[in-house]
Amino acid sequence: LFKLDGKTALVTGAAQGIGFEIAKALGEAGAKVTIADMNPAVGEAAASSIGAAFEPLNVTDPAAVRTLAQKLDALDILVNNAGIVRNVPSEDISNADWEVVMSVNVNGVFWCCREFGKKMLDARKGSIISTSSMSGMISNHPQPQSGYNASKAAVIHLTRSLAGEWAGRGVRVNSVAPGYTATPMTILGLETPEWRETWLKETPMGRLAEPREIAPAVVYLASDASSFVTGHTLVVDGGYTV
Ligand code: NAD
Repeated sequence: LFKLDGKTALVTGAAQGIGFEIAKALGEAGAKVTIADMNPAVGEAAASSIGAAFEPLNVTDPAAVRTLAQKLDALDILVNNAGIVRNVPSEDISNADWEVVMSVNVNGVFWCCREFGKKMLDARKGSIISTSSMSGMISNHPQPQSGYNASKAAVIHLTRSLAGEWAGRGVRVNSVAPGYTATPMTILGLETPEWRETWLKETPMGRLAEPREIAPAVVYLASDASSFVTGHTLVVDGGYTV
């Protein structure tokens, strides 16, 4: 049921972190995987290390997304994983920082759903999974990231909306909501001793997730094991939101 033999998958933002582990796990389940990332320097080596193909892509560019969708055969599985965060107090955040978070995390997800989804609808089959976040469900204080939280809430509701629109046409749309996960985003980008202490204290399991612990949830939603599941957000957060 969980096997993906003969299926094709594209994972955005998979040069590193959670996306890379998702690409690896989909490949191990049998899918033919393409990594699409705006960082070819890291992404090409990452893809070749797991036998995946690589395509350079900035998900904020709708024309580039359309060109890639036209270039590739119809996909069975699309994983919208590319995402960024800006930790700036809301009273101080610049227009540019606010807009880039929305552009990658919301617009980028939608452009990919629209362009790859169109081909899935034509083929009357497909599974779309977006990496949302527990930050789309709770306010995730004390970190100052209102834009990120709002963007991830948008992904969760976009998931429900597209699922409703496309449910009768063979395309399922779901999301996976990780809690704090040890990736370059968190470890290199956000971590301070105070925040790490807060993360560990507030996560009931008392640790961060490893990126490979997020990936199996995506494999489940990509596979026939979840054939009657659509519009759902599967939380993988060590109990943070309970
Ligand atoms: P990361 O920063 O380690 O990796 C993100 C990847 O996305 C990088 O390879 C980067 O090059 C790529 N990327 C960024 N902008 C892009 C764009 N415009 N077009 C194409 N590729 C782009 O991040 P991560 O921690 O692995 O996060 C992956 C996803 O998981 C994100 O959507 C993030 O919001 C979400 N998430 C992360 C955590 C966490 O604690 N790390 C928790 C919840 C949700």
